[in-house]
Amino acid sequence: RAKENGKGQLVKYDPELDRDRLRVAELEKELRDALASGEVQPAFQPLVSATTGRITGVEALARWRSKNGPVSPEVFIPLAEKSGLIDALGAAILKASLLEARAWPGINLSVNVSPIQLCNPDFAPFVISTLNEAGFYPRRLTLEITEGVLMSNPDQARRAMDALKAIGVGFALDDFGCGYASIGALRQFGFDRMKVDRSLVWALEEGQGEGILNATIALATALGIPVTAEGVENPYQAGVLTRAGCDLLQGYLIGKPVSADEITRALVEKAAATA
Ligand code: C2E
Ligand code: MG
Ligand code: MG
Ligand code: MG
Repeated sequence: RAKENGKGQLVKYDPELDRDRLRVAELEKELRDALASGEVQPAFQPLVSATTGRITGVEALARWRSKNGPVSPEVFIPLAEKSGLIDALGAAILKASLLEARAWPGINLSVNVSPIQLCNPDFAPFVISTLNEAGFYPRRLTLEITEGVLMSNPDQARRAMDALKAIGVGFALDDFGCGYASIGALRQFGFDRMKVDRSLVWALEEGQGEGILNATIALATALGIPVTAEGVENPYQAGVLTRAGCDLLQGYLIGKPVSADEITRALVEKAAATA
C-alpha cells in the first residue's frame, strides 16, 4: 500500500506507522479504563515565595501509573484531548485535588485546564458545583490555562472565566513566553498571575536569556500581574528570578511533584521550622 503525500510524491508503506496507530488505540483504551478505575491521580508540586521561601501553594499535576509503567502527561494529556476523555480526566483531577487540598489551610491550589474543557459550556457550572460539594473556598483555587484557547475561542473562554472569576476563582496564564506571548491576552482576559515558561528560565545561562526574562517579568509587573517562574532547577536561576521581581518560584530546586502525603509532611515540617 503506497499513497501520495500532499506534494504528489509517493510515500512507501511503513509498517512502523501502523504499529504506532495500533499502540495509540491501545493506549486510548487503557486510559479510558484507568479513568474509570481511578488510576489517574494528582501529584502536587510546591510553589514558594521567592523572598521568604514559604510554601504558598501547590500545583496539581496528573499522574498515570499504568500496568506497563508510568505514562507522561506529555503523552496522555494530548491523547485525552484527541479522544474525548479530557473532560473526565480534568474532572477527576479537580475533584481529587480539592479533597486533598482541603487539609492544607491557607494553601492555594492550582489546577491545569485544557482549552477543550474551558470551551465546554458545562465547565464553569461544573467547577462551581465541585467547589461547593468539596466545601472549598473559591479564592483558594487558581486555574492555569495556556494562551492557545484565548485565540481559538475567545468568546467562550471569556464567558467561562468571567463566571468563575465572579465567585473568586483565580486564573494564571501558563507557559508564558513559549508561544505567541500575548501581552494583550494578559490584559484583556484579566489574569491574576503569569507563569513564565520553563524554557525561558532554562535559557538564563545563555546569551540574551537574562535580558528576555527580565523584560518579560518587568512587563507583567508593569501590568500589575504577579509572576511565577516554573522549572527552577538551580540557585543561580532562583537568584536572577528573585532580583527580577518574580514573586513565586516552582521547580526541582524547591521540590518535585509528590504525593498528597508528602506535601502534608512538608507543610508540617515548614510550620515547625518557622514556629
Ligand atoms: P505545566 O502545567 O506547565 O507543568 C509544569 C511541568 O514542568 C510539569 O510537567 C512539571 O512536573 C515540570 N517541572 C516542574 N518543575 C520542573 C523542573 O525544575 N525541571 C523539569 N525538568 N521539569 C519541571 P508534567 O507533570 O510532565 O506535566 C506536563 C504538562 O502536562 C503540564 O505542563 C500541563 O500542561 C499538562 N498537565 C499535567 N497535568 C494536567 C492536568 O491535570 N490537566 C491538564 N489539562 N493538563 C495537565
Ligand atoms: Mg501548569
Ligand atoms: Mg507551565
Ligand atoms: Mg507546560
